[in-house]
Amino acid sequence: MLRQVAEGVLIHESEFLQSNAVVVQGRAGVLLIDPGVHDYEIACLANDLQELGQPAVAGFSTHPHWDHLLWHSSFGGAPRYGTARCAATARDRLSDGVAQVAKAAGIPEQVPLDLLGLITGLPAETARIPWDGPQVRIIEHQAHAPGHAALLIEERGVLVAGDMLSDVLIPMLDLNDTADPIEDYLAALRLLERVAGDVDVLVPGHGSIGGADQVHARIDQDRAYMHALRDLDVPSDPRIGPSAKDGWDWVAGVHAQQLQRLARRSERDGTPG
Ligand SMILES: [Zn+2]
Repeated sequence: MLRQVAEGVLIHESEFLQSNAVVVQGRAGVLLIDPGVHDYEIACLANDLQELGQPAVAGFSTHPHWDHLLWHSSFGGAPRYGTARCAATARDRLSDGVAQVAKAAGIPEQVPLDLLGLITGLPAETARIPWDGPQVRIIEHQAHAPGHAALLIEERGVLVAGDMLSDVLIPMLDLNDTADPIEDYLAALRLLERVAGDVDVLVPGHGSIGGADQVHARIDQDRAYMHALRDLDVPSDPRIGPSAKDGWDWVAGVHAQQLQRLARRSERDGTPG
């Protein structure tokens, strides 16, 4: 079921990690951002669009993780985009075949994988998504995954944050593709902070939709988490520990793993992160 979060901006929440698919209404159809996740949810979304008489005219993937690279033939053959780094990374990781990735990543069975990751990279420095609808500014940064992009739908005051600024997931670092993942993440938060004043509605890739007041609060929360990680400290973070969302105690495991990998890195080369 689609829920409107701002004029011409609707979301479809998945049962998988509280993922948010975003629908932006344009002149001749909609832009679909990270549509997913389970087949029955995608069918529901496609059905809702059909009832609205709004075909998908463009797609965008915020980053090259499988749950953000989905598509289905029922959405039609609209061009699908990501940043150049996102598209190149997706292509690279899928080069051994989708089945291999599905197995390694433990993708649930009800996820349609036929069209996984078939996105076109927009040239670096592309400022906006090329489509016939409200302007969508691309805010690319180096955090969480290569070529990760947040999107600012300027006229609607909506920030689609990708896997940043979640109220249920801690910041998850990209520990493979970067020399200083913590500084990169902090730089990305500064970048988002610069547009925070223009945001009335915050849509994270996973978690609850936030209002204007949530933007700074979540940036501050993620920054505090990163500082604790950098100091190999124990963060007091509501997303881990007893205050974590019901059934989400595994997030604490991700935290422990990040801490361990960072400690190993700093031991190895004497630098934090
Ligand atoms: Zn995700």
